[in-house]
Amino acid sequence: MNQFQGFDYDVIVVGSGAGGGMSAHVLTQQGHRVLMLEAGRDYDPYTETPMFQENHQAPLRGVGTPDKDFGYFDATVDGGWSVPGEPYTMGEGTEFLWWRSRMLGGRTNHWGRFSLRFSHHDFKGYARDGLGADWPLNYEDLAPWYDLTEKLVGVSGNNPGLDDMPDSGPNVLQPPPQPRVPELLLQAAGRKLGIPVVPMRRAVLTRPLDDRQACFYATACGRGCSIGAAFQTTTSLLPMARATGNLKIVTDAMVKSVQVDGDHRVTGVTFVDRKTAADVSLKARVVVLAASACETARLLLNSKSERFPQGLANSSGEVGKNLMDSTGADIGGYIPGLEGRPRYNEDGTTSNHLFIPWWGHEAQARGELNFPRGYHFEVGGGFRAPSMGMGLHTDGYGHAMKEDIKRRYGSQMGFSIRGEMLPNEHCYMEVDDRIRDKWRIPVVKFHWRWSEHELNQVAHGLATAEKLLQTMGGRVTSPRRAPEEALKKGGEIIHEVGTTRMGASPKTSVTNHHGQTWDCKNLLIMDGGVFASNPHKNCTLTLMTLAMRNASWLADEMKRGAL
Ligand SMILES: Cc1cc2nc3c(=O)[nH]c(=O)nc-3n(C[C@H](O)[C@H](O)[C@H](O)COP(=O)(O)OP(=O)(O)OC[C@H]3O[C@@H](n4cnc5c(N)ncnc54)[C@H](O)[C@@H]3O)c2cc1C
Ligand code: SF4
Repeated sequence: MNQFQGFDYDVIVVGSGAGGGMSAHVLTQQGHRVLMLEAGRDYDPYTETPMFQENHQAPLRGVGTPDKDFGYFDATVDGGWSVPGEPYTMGEGTEFLWWRSRMLGGRTNHWGRFSLRFSHHDFKGYARDGLGADWPLNYEDLAPWYDLTEKLVGVSGNNPGLDDMPDSGPNVLQPPPQPRVPELLLQAAGRKLGIPVVPMRRAVLTRPLDDRQACFYATACGRGCSIGAAFQTTTSLLPMARATGNLKIVTDAMVKSVQVDGDHRVTGVTFVDRKTAADVSLKARVVVLAASACETARLLLNSKSERFPQGLANSSGEVGKNLMDSTGADIGGYIPGLEGRPRYNEDGTTSNHLFIPWWGHEAQARGELNFPRGYHFEVGGGFRAPSMGMGLHTDGYGHAMKEDIKRRYGSQMGFSIRGEMLPNEHCYMEVDDRIRDKWRIPVVKFHWRWSEHELNQVAHGLATAEKLLQTMGGRVTSPRRAPEEALKKGGEIIHEVGTTRMGASPKTSVTNHHGQTWDCKNLLIMDGGVFASNPHKNCTLTLMTLAMRNASWLADEMKRGAL
């Protein structure tokens, strides 16, 4: 057992977001002592969440600025698309966006909480179409762990019986919120076109759980949720882990390298104390990396030694490769049939209550589509808090314009495509040795190029959204764009995964199916880096499910003295 500031510990966990929070929770419940190192500042969601402030109380009426990209009240109190003093570089022709939250809880404080399970289609795509890589596990291996994770984090939704949405176990899901009127109209249009429109699954409580309260349907989840209804590690996993007495969290601790002995074991880590800029080295029996996919890969690539000259755990050469995000594109429309309806409260749980899962597996199997993997639609519409953009698409001025805005209020609808991308040789990250950040750590260099698969998929999505709008009696109002213009930049959907992928062979992957690196058996990775593919379903539920499963396995291995 090692000691830091009077605290004895077995395991160092790097990062306090989705992966780090879940790992620490499981390990501490199993009686292991965990020292968590978090690069960001401490953050108290109970006192710092601006849930009830009005936009007019903020500078510039709360709109996004370079230091608060998603608006003045967004929960990211430190970080965003850029982090002062911590740049990254890009290869020629690359446009990549990298979102980092430098705070306790990482990005879980403000994520969208969309929580869709992967299905059997998603784990074995390569076996089906020969593209990308298969996972070294099946849906059945993860199904019981999905149940446990959904129950623990609190996911609301239902089991619609679709092959793209595997059922959760009995009494696992909390009831979904009621659909809104525009979503019901979309459901009717979907029925005509053979496209399912079903309740979204989100990590938002509609019933109380532990000491977390149910959502009261009134505030913006992106600001954080001080009542614990919207899942974030800072109101759930971290307090639960702390309550065991087995967790100590050190914030402002930017880990810069992992040390190894001459053999196959890591011995500890070195971090920069951001308050003093001093280096601190610590020993550990086991190290768990959950710093987010690209930070973890950066850490490994920066941990070179005589034994690992290409970077730690990189004998396959795969660290930093296979970088994937989700595809994303938006299309907006206007539905005259929704004009002038009686006003009522449609706020709900911030995001869509219904959504469109991928419905094209059979058409794909019949060879009717010109792209290999699926997508889903997240939708937005209904009465929302009026914003500065409400007057768009309105003619005239004065009283007539006001009346026009009132009449059209709640009759707009937006569709966001979220689709699977395939890994390709042009999408990867490496370390740029020429440039160091303010902590003297070499920075990341990104390389990115979408392939035809993603462009064809987005073209299909844009055409389908238009068909849905027309079937609802509406029309497209956003500018018409070719798929290459509509497709968002790499990283922009903030689902970056794959940089330390798991696999069945040490030659082609970085970890085994437990997230244990092939090269060092006491080094494990518990963030999205381990994803072998990036299905269209938002990644975090699966990331946490893997962390729960793999941390449970790790806890057992440690108990029996195997690690
Ligand atoms: C606006 C937004 C909306 C999103 N919506 C969704 C959604 O609806 N559904 C979904 O599935 N996903 C969504 N995501 C993505 C989701 O937030 C991430 O997939 C998830 O948080 C990843 O978990 P993680 O533990 O890997 O990383 P993070 O949650 O980012 O946590 C990593 C932590 O490690 C710390 N860290 C980094 N480097 C170091 C270092 N060197 N030393 C020490 N600590 C370090 C960071 O400060 C951070 O706290 C969204 C993200 C954003 C930003
Ligand atoms: S809408 Fe509900 S879940 Fe979201 S922040 Fe408000 S109370 Fe929390």
